[in-house]
Amino acid sequence: MSIADNLNIIRDRIAAAALKAGRDPATVRLVAVSKTQPAEVVAEAARAGQFLFGENYVQEFAAKVADVKEPVEWHFIGSLQSNKVKYIAGLVTLIHSVDRLSLAEEIDRQWGKLGRSCDVLIQVNIAEEATKSGTTSAGLLDLVRSVAGLSHIRVRGLMTMPPFFDDPEGARPYFRELRRLAGEIAAAGIPGVTMAELSMGMSGDFEAAIAEGATLVRIGTAVFGERQYR
Ligand SMILES: *Cc1c(COP(=O)(O)O)cnc(C)c1O
Repeated sequence: MSIADNLNIIRDRIAAAALKAGRDPATVRLVAVSKTQPAEVVAEAARAGQFLFGENYVQEFAAKVADVKEPVEWHFIGSLQSNKVKYIAGLVTLIHSVDRLSLAEEIDRQWGKLGRSCDVLIQVNIAEEATKSGTTSAGLLDLVRSVAGLSHIRVRGLMTMPPFFDDPEGARPYFRELRRLAGEIAAAGIPGVTMAELSMGMSGDFEAAIAEGATLVRIGTAVFGERQYR
């Protein structure tokens, strides 16, 4: 199956999941996760009408971005070291993975140098798994308040990666909890902060995430096939 075929299938599944949840399919955006995929593969997806991509690894992304001539938009979705923020500054329109103030401060500094602002999501490690990044639910409100104080960052919502379950329904309580947390943050009325975006759901569980309110689904293998390395 070609990438175009995969994209058609995924778009249909996204639309069906949205409609089933009583949602407008246009409120769910597909982030095609192109980590480990070369620039030609990104270009092929763009020719099939997919213009939004998610990347995880700074070096790989920085090498790839110049080789993609199609008018694509990039999100950074992976864990991010502060000393590497400079390599992605201005190149991505949303960072999904802000999990600590020091990282936010560096994003603020780098985007500030460009005279621009960076939209970010705060990543929450709801299950507090040692292998995953993200703030704890308990630390979320304080982190959002601190990040909101930075002048070149806008907090647009939350992101989570739930524990792995063979049955995607297992992830559903975590998606629901992210939505509840977003409601709590929105209710706090922090100036400059909106909770319009919920980044949740991957190849194995995006329908459950859409049922619980996902606005951004991050899908890699179901679009591109199995990754070649990492
Ligand atoms: C790799 C990755 C994805 C995509 O995972 P698939 O299972 O291939 O769809 C989504 N989100 C993050 C943060 C990832 O690292």
